[in-house]
Amino acid sequence: MKITAIKTFLMQAGSPPNSGAWAANYDTINSGWRNWLFVKVETDEGITGVGECSGWPRVIETAVQDLAQILVGEDPGNIERLWQKMLVATMGHGMTGVVGGGAMTGIDMALWDIKGKALNTPVWNLLGGKLRDRIRVYAHAKTPEVALQLKAQGITAIKAGGLSNPVRMLEALRSAIGDDMDLMVDLHGPPWLTTADAIVLGRSLEPLKLLFMEDAIPPEHLEQYARVRDAVAIPLAAGERAANIWGLRPLIERELIDVVQPDTGRAGGITQMKKIAAMAESHGIMLAPHSGSLGPVAEYAALHVMAAVPNALMLERIEIDWPGRSEVISPVPVTQDGHLAVPTAPGLGVDINEEAIARHPSQRNVGLGGGDYAKGTADEFVYVQTRLHRAGYFRKS
Ligand SMILES: [Mg+2]
Repeated sequence: MKITAIKTFLMQAGSPPNSGAWAANYDTINSGWRNWLFVKVETDEGITGVGECSGWPRVIETAVQDLAQILVGEDPGNIERLWQKMLVATMGHGMTGVVGGGAMTGIDMALWDIKGKALNTPVWNLLGGKLRDRIRVYAHAKTPEVALQLKAQGITAIKAGGLSNPVRMLEALRSAIGDDMDLMVDLHGPPWLTTADAIVLGRSLEPLKLLFMEDAIPPEHLEQYARVRDAVAIPLAAGERAANIWGLRPLIERELIDVVQPDTGRAGGITQMKKIAAMAESHGIMLAPHSGSLGPVAEYAALHVMAAVPNALMLERIEIDWPGRSEVISPVPVTQDGHLAVPTAPGLGVDINEEAIARHPSQRNVGLGGGDYAKGTADEFVYVQTRLHRAGYFRKS
C-alpha cells in the first residue's frame, strides 16, 4: 500500500455556550479561539485514514501540506518510520513544538486509522488490546446550575476553569454538587500568576478535596512547580501545552505532577500518546488527555489510547459544546452514565463530513476576548498586575 495524497480540512468551530467570558461577550462562532483541522490520508488501495491537528490549526495546515510532500509514495503501515521521517524534516525549523507536533499528530492518527482498517480491527487492538469498554469523562461547569444539570445527565466529575474568584466559584460548586462527584480546577497557568499566588490559592482550595489543580503556574517553570507541589496538598495536573515525549518528560521524570494531560491533537499522535502514557505509568502518574479546543476526531483517538493503557484516569470533554461538533463527524459519541463507549469499528471508527466542515470556513485562530483580565483597568494585559487587582482571586464568600 502507498500513500497517494494527504488532504486538509480546516474549519471555524464555535465556542461552547458554557465558556464564561467568551460566551457572555462574544458571538460563539466568531470568538475565534477554536479552529479544527482534520487530515485525510489517501492510499492507492482505496483505504483512507482521518486525523486531527491542534496547536494552531491555521498554521499547521501549511505544515501538513509541506510534510505531505515527503510522505506520498511511502507505505502507510510503517508508522514509526514515517513519524521519525517527519521529525527529521521539521528539525530545520527549530524545536518541534506544538505546531510541528500538531502536524505530525494529525498524520500519525490517520496512519493508525488506515492500519486498523487494513487489518479490520480497532486501533486499541493494535495498541495491545483493551483494559476497559468505556472511558470516564469529565465536563466543564462554572456555575452550580450547569454543574447540577451535568450531574443530572450522569456526569461524575466537573472541572471549573478561569481565575475569576476561583475560591468562591469552587466553594459554590462543591456545595451544590456534594461530595459524591469529583471536582477539579484549571488555573490555566498565565505568565503573571506567581508561585506564591498559586500556593495561597491551592491552600485555600485544600478543604474542597479537589481531584487535581491544573496548570497552577506556567508549566514550563519547573523549579517553581516543585515549590507548589511541596506546599499544596492537592494533586497537580499539567501537560496540555507540550508536545511529544521530550516536551512532557521534565514534568513526568521529576514527578512534578500527578496527572499528565497531553493534548491528543498535538502531542505527536497515537504513537507518542502511548509512549507518554508509559512514561507516566513508570512514575505512578495518571493520564487525563486534554480536550478544550479539540474537535471530535482527536476525541476518538483519545478513546483508543485510554482503552489500551492501565493509567487512564478520565477524558476531558466539553459536554455542553457548540452544536456543530455533532455535524462534522459520524458516528457521534454520546455520553452515557458519565462515560463514552470505546469504539469497536475498524481503525478509529470515525469519519468526517466534508460538506459540513465546508459550511464553517476558518476566520481566525485567536480569541478577541479579554480573557481573565478586568476590562478597563490600567493593568489590563500588563504582565505583572497589581496585588489589589488580584485580591479577588483569593476572596472567599
Ligand atoms: Mg487546561
